[in-house]
Amino acid sequence: MNLKLNYCNQCGATVSHKIPADDNLPRYICDDCGNIHYQNPRIIAGCIAEWENKILLCRRSIEPRHGLWTLPAGFMENNETTIEGACREAQEEANADVIDSRLFCMFSIPHISQVYMMYLGQLKNGKAHPGAESLEVDLFNEQDIPWDELAFPVITETLKLYYADKLNNNIQVHNGEIIREQNNLIINHY
Ligand SMILES: [Zn+2]
Repeated sequence: MNLKLNYCNQCGATVSHKIPADDNLPRYICDDCGNIHYQNPRIIAGCIAEWENKILLCRRSIEPRHGLWTLPAGFMENNETTIEGACREAQEEANADVIDSRLFCMFSIPHISQVYMMYLGQLKNGKAHPGAESLEVDLFNEQDIPWDELAFPVITETLKLYYADKLNNNIQVHNGEIIREQNNLIINHY
């Protein structure tokens, strides 16, 4: 599903929602200059930052899910790599330097056209303090994770995979999907 668009971003004329020639999905097409406005999923890069036996969580100071806990994560910017995006988000949300990162899991969330890429790295010196988007940041042991106060299902799933791998002493790379069917979320991962 496309986000509603009223005007062409090239010339400002009105647009129509229709299927372009040689295409199979409706797009917003400019009624004047013919510009086709393609809309594609957005990538969110984030990380689990470890320090000793704890991980870094941030309590959100922004909507949506104000006041709930999350891993540092956010929309990728142009001209950066996913790993740079994950580290930048940790810096912005928690003033945290994350080093030695590697991909831990990827989740497709088609009903909101998002792809999450979550890295696993080390929190340098164990140091963090809240950035502008966080009310507070803290390091949590597994038994202290606020499971009922996590901001998004993808964060819950990422942490479940992480602790399951830790229990098995075998950190893997996971590929998952969170799919909405009626009012239920179907979660698959491998
Ligand atoms: Zn136009």
